[in-house]
Amino acid sequence: MADIQTQAAQLRELLNRYAHEYYVLDAPSVPDAEYDRLFRELQALELAHPELQTADSPTLRVGGQPLPQFDAVVHAVPMLSIRTETDVSEQGALSFDASVRKELDLLAIEPPVEYAAELKFDGLAINLRYENGVLVQAATRGDGATGEDVTQNIRTIGQIPLRLKGAPPPLLEVRGEVYMRRDDFQRLNEKQLAAGEKTFVNPRNTAAGAVRQLDPAIAAQRPLSFFGYGLGDVSAWDAAPDTHAGILDSLAEFGFPICDVRAVVTGGDGLAQFHAKVGALRDELPFDIDGVVYKVNSLALQAELGFRTREPRWAVAHKYPAQEALTTVEAIDIQV
Ligand code: NAD
Repeated sequence: MADIQTQAAQLRELLNRYAHEYYVLDAPSVPDAEYDRLFRELQALELAHPELQTADSPTLRVGGQPLPQFDAVVHAVPMLSIRTETDVSEQGALSFDASVRKELDLLAIEPPVEYAAELKFDGLAINLRYENGVLVQAATRGDGATGEDVTQNIRTIGQIPLRLKGAPPPLLEVRGEVYMRRDDFQRLNEKQLAAGEKTFVNPRNTAAGAVRQLDPAIAAQRPLSFFGYGLGDVSAWDAAPDTHAGILDSLAEFGFPICDVRAVVTGGDGLAQFHAKVGALRDELPFDIDGVVYKVNSLALQAELGFRTREPRWAVAHKYPAQEALTTVEAIDIQV
């Protein structure tokens, strides 16, 4: 038992260090696959020995501490994590569907559950707050409860509307991912080389580092893109959609870029087909992804399913076998 305790403490310490490097410094020292492997190891230990789970366990927390250099933003609706399905084969899709049906007490004779399937973009989560259709604040996820005010930097991203189109509700928080396209990343590095400057390691950390710059002029020089994928706080939305896919359609009408690689599918088989289809076109996508995300499409069913400590029960991330190599940290620029 003492050995298991030591092992859990070591895993916690290691994962907390990696999480700090990744979320706070935007400079990971190990590949995501290694982090995910250690995370699953700790989860398995805690499942077998619940008494080992401490309040500072990375399995209970979201993201990392917001940096004090930025003004703090308390999220009206927490920005949570998404559980990662451990099985990267099609079985992972079937397991998620089975867990949803079980939670909803659905019988075998009942019709399949409808899901919205989309890409898991590899960038930085942002909450955009619009009052009367005007962007008033942009914040990072931070530790889920409190994020960083990055409004000035976000305003420099051309794809993010400063004023919404159509008839948005008076208060609308839109959540999405700021990311860097692969071709933009390559061009940026070519420019860096030509100027005799250091190059960047990967699009994800470059995008995250750019959003968390203290100098908006530097952020403005980095080619960033955005995809919306959900909502935060919303008030008085007459005729609001009752499905996740409907929300994304509305966000597109308000002027947000919404990725068109998405589908509404039914049952675990539908999810598995989406996973396979995206797996086949993954290398041709103009940006990096971190797998796919499945979300129960009906908002009423989402409300019924609710949340665990750090994640909703109605969504899961389904990854692909890791293809990444170890990166070096030296080349990443951190200017906070
Ligand atoms: P997560 O796995 O908790 O998933 C939630 C995040 O997914 C959201 O905040 C959002 O940013 C993103 N997302 C992308 N597309 C989305 C969509 N369509 N719908 C909803 N959310 C979407 O996110 P996380 O905690 O930021 O972890 C992401 C990954 O970071 C992990 O899988 C892990 O591998 C990696 N990580 C790596 C290290 C490391 O040291 N290499 C450390 C920590 C985390």
